[in-house]
Amino acid sequence: MNRRRFLSRLATGAAGAALPGLLFGCNRSRSAGVDRSAAPDSTRYVSPVTDRDLAVHAFDAEITKLDKPASDWTSVVSEDAYQILFEVGTEPRYSSPLLDEKRRGTFVCAACHLPLFPSTTKYESGTGWPSFWAPLPRHLGTSVDNKLAVTRTEYHCRRCGGHQGHVFGDGPDPTGLRYCNNGLALRFIPESESLPDLRR
Ligand SMILES: [Zn+2]
Repeated sequence: MNRRRFLSRLATGAAGAALPGLLFGCNRSRSAGVDRSAAPDSTRYVSPVTDRDLAVHAFDAEITKLDKPASDWTSVVSEDAYQILFEVGTEPRYSSPLLDEKRRGTFVCAACHLPLFPSTTKYESGTGWPSFWAPLPRHLGTSVDNKLAVTRTEYHCRRCGGHQGHVFGDGPDPTGLRYCNNGLALRFIPESESLPDLRR
């Protein structure tokens, strides 16, 4: 899709180009004033950009929060992934093989398999964590994270609630956002493979 067309799709949401308060990254801490009123709303930023992304939208009807305790996922994901997804952990930087993943496809939640990011929004941020400038619309939820000295915006899989990462306002065009994701919280499905069934 050409850039002009894509940007026009974003226009109604005013994209997220201005998030002036969210100027620090996974490990780029600075002081400072977070404008909570500008907290990202993942429903506003991106429309499907590939045929595969359109197929992903077949999952939209399944985005209902699962009524399931986090402990039920212990037998489904690795211990390290569980610690990130359900205990809000962070993997070491430059530890994820997904940093080098450059194929077309879809990044799905490692726990419940809900598609979260199209490969077309992945970019090299230089932070050491897989980074994206937009998720699939409505597939993520957000919350305010005050665990560090600075307030951050945490985001998670809207279906299973599994923590994925934090979103910052220093990303590239067209959204200006950087979704800084733990690789262990994701699974990559190449375009040539079918998306996995959603786990329940
Ligand atoms: Zn999930």
